[in-house]
Amino acid sequence: MTEHLKIDMEKRACPSCETTALHFFYEVKQAPVHSVLLLHDRETAVNFPTGDIILGHCQECGFITNAAFNDAQQDYAGEYEATQGFSPTFNAFHRRLAADLIERYDLHNKHIVEIGCGMGEFLHLLCEMGDNTGTGFDPAYVKERSLVGESDKITFIADYFSEQYVNTPGDFFACKMTLEHIPNTAEFVRMVRQTVGDNPNKTVFFQVPNARYVLGDVAFWDIYYEHCSYFSMGSIARLFRHVGFDVMDLWTDYDDQYLMIAARPGKGDNPQLAQEDDLALVAADVAYFTDAFGQLAEDWRRRFTAYKRNGRRVVLWGGGSKGVSFLTGLGITLDDVQYVVDINPNKTGTFMAGTGQEIVAPQFLPEYKPDIVIVMNPIYRNEIRRDLKEMGLAPQVLTV
Ligand SMILES: [Zn+2]
Repeated sequence: MTEHLKIDMEKRACPSCETTALHFFYEVKQAPVHSVLLLHDRETAVNFPTGDIILGHCQECGFITNAAFNDAQQDYAGEYEATQGFSPTFNAFHRRLAADLIERYDLHNKHIVEIGCGMGEFLHLLCEMGDNTGTGFDPAYVKERSLVGESDKITFIADYFSEQYVNTPGDFFACKMTLEHIPNTAEFVRMVRQTVGDNPNKTVFFQVPNARYVLGDVAFWDIYYEHCSYFSMGSIARLFRHVGFDVMDLWTDYDDQYLMIAARPGKGDNPQLAQEDDLALVAADVAYFTDAFGQLAEDWRRRFTAYKRNGRRVVLWGGGSKGVSFLTGLGITLDDVQYVVDINPNKTGTFMAGTGQEIVAPQFLPEYKPDIVIVMNPIYRNEIRRDLKEMGLAPQVLTV
């Protein structure tokens, strides 16, 4: 980090607890500012705008922020494609989560508001399974691309959730995989607090990636530009308490990759849950990540060099943010990897931001005959092995 930049960074306050206790520990220069937009030609993909990632860990609350993040570069109203709704593993998880929330919070004949609802799959599940009605907000919502179709039970608002919507009525407020995209976390959750009002019978549910999973697994491919905010159980609980929510539940799911919080309006002073006490654990994770990252990146680069030398065909499986971050983080070029596989048909024929690989459907593989398949998310390994076998292929399958 340059000295000038460092001094500028040191003045930054933690956007969650609003103190100045950030310690900077990880830096990526020129990461693509978006990794899930559909890019239809290689030139656009290779020349995609970039920004820096400088992660700061707040010693006061445990929150991790990209202090170099500039949200003016972010535009989710474009051809944004982040749905995981094509994976059976993911769909099973979604159904299980919906059933669990309906049971835990008695969601029957209620009105559900989802902030950042994507194409509406999850809101649709909550409404169908619990006989509820819903309002969904998402700037990327496109009626024609929604898998769940029109419904008289659900209203979709294709916009960012902002001050103008704080009067939106609801009994249960869900916000999944959205807060990690928001730099001013306290400001945002305060706005949600204002929307929910003071009725303690209303519940908010947030789901974010689990930063401790990312750090503990040295999963640098899970650190990307769109994700400017990284939480542990304790840091998300401290944020919610800070803006006037009582924390009801904290848990993880999806092999520990996702972190969930349920909270109710209050003063933020109800008895602490045991999981909230993680400041020292997060600090240890940050130290571990810092040490281990250099070695891991070096190991991967060495492997790619050997593959190239031996003329092995390598494909990545997973054309989302993880794939983009893995390739750009390691400096992998088109010489090393030519294709990235993704089961989402909307991505077929588009290109990876930054490195420019073409995204192909799995059906392309029998023709290409890869020697090595690198799976970007281990949770899909069995699903992918089965798909490969059904196509009569037996490449070496590696997971990150
Ligand atoms: Zn903080």
